[in-house]
Amino acid sequence: MNVLSSLALALAGGSVLVSFAQQAQPGRTDRQQGPPLVVSTTDIQSAKFPVIEMHGHLGSNNLMPANLERIVRDMDALNIRILVNASGGSGDRLKQNVEKLGKYPGRFLVFANLDFANIDDPEWSKKAVSQLRVDVANGARGLKVFRNPGLDLKDAKGQRVKLDDPRFDPIWAECGRAKLPVILQSGNGLAFPSRDNERNSTGPSPERNTNLEAALAEQYHVFDRYPGTTFIHGDLGTLGNNLGELAKLMDRFPNLYVEFGNGLSELGRQPRAARQWLIKYQNRVLFGKLIFLKDELLSSFRVLESPDESFFLNRRTSWPVYGIDLPDFVLKKIYYQNALRVMPALAGGFTK
Ligand SMILES: [Zn+2]
Repeated sequence: MNVLSSLALALAGGSVLVSFAQQAQPGRTDRQQGPPLVVSTTDIQSAKFPVIEMHGHLGSNNLMPANLERIVRDMDALNIRILVNASGGSGDRLKQNVEKLGKYPGRFLVFANLDFANIDDPEWSKKAVSQLRVDVANGARGLKVFRNPGLDLKDAKGQRVKLDDPRFDPIWAECGRAKLPVILQSGNGLAFPSRDNERNSTGPSPERNTNLEAALAEQYHVFDRYPGTTFIHGDLGTLGNNLGELAKLMDRFPNLYVEFGNGLSELGRQPRAARQWLIKYQNRVLFGKLIFLKDELLSSFRVLESPDESFFLNRRTSWPVYGIDLPDFVLKKIYYQNALRVMPALAGGFTK
């Protein structure tokens, strides 16, 4: 042990494992400019409390037996108890999804998706509700609506299909009745990510963002009209960069939850405001990561749990983030307790 790490251990009172190291800066090897910033690093190898990952996307490649086995091994190592696959599809695809993930009892939940083909069929709503009921009977535990409605889903006349279109009403009502949480992500990515700004150099093309404000307003209209349905706003409702506005939404819609998704990078660059915000709305925030990558999940835990400074969160975030250092009782809520409230059926089989 060198002098610096002995000092670090002494400073931390021995309770936190720290070491001094140059910060990892993925993709930035071309920019070595003099002595690096040297700060302490909390060694996080798994989440401090069990995690329910509320917004995962497992594609067909992830579902291949060997890959799935690796994911479960990583989940064990990371302390992720349950992962929600929000890409369940519907019909036969959903059934297969539930079957494949069912090889690991209690570890995965599948959310159904809507099929927008034939949206012009006057019977579409009726058929979509009965499909959802079949999907639930086949094991779906919630509904995830992809970004299309409100943004680029068009009807036969070329009109944009809005999220508050009456065709969707029976679905929101059914989700309330059947206690199925709904993940909505109608705003297209956080704070207008585009190839032209700092937020997302490889993200969706800017033209898909043109309806973002309208899409969000239509989404709020849905939250308002279906107070008995639990909605989960993906990516912090694309408002992680403006916590004041996000607070207004939380106050306005008691049926609204948020999950981090891509929004964690916004919280990590305003750790003091984020800490206050997360403590204030501690009962309404869920852990969601979207893509299952072990190193990025670890750095997500580091943002939430540690007081570390100036480190890199993931491959898409161009700025350094800072640890928010949440108290344990808030971490527990965000990691699993709030998810159990959103999906009470889980609570019986969930042991800490
Ligand atoms: Zn998603």
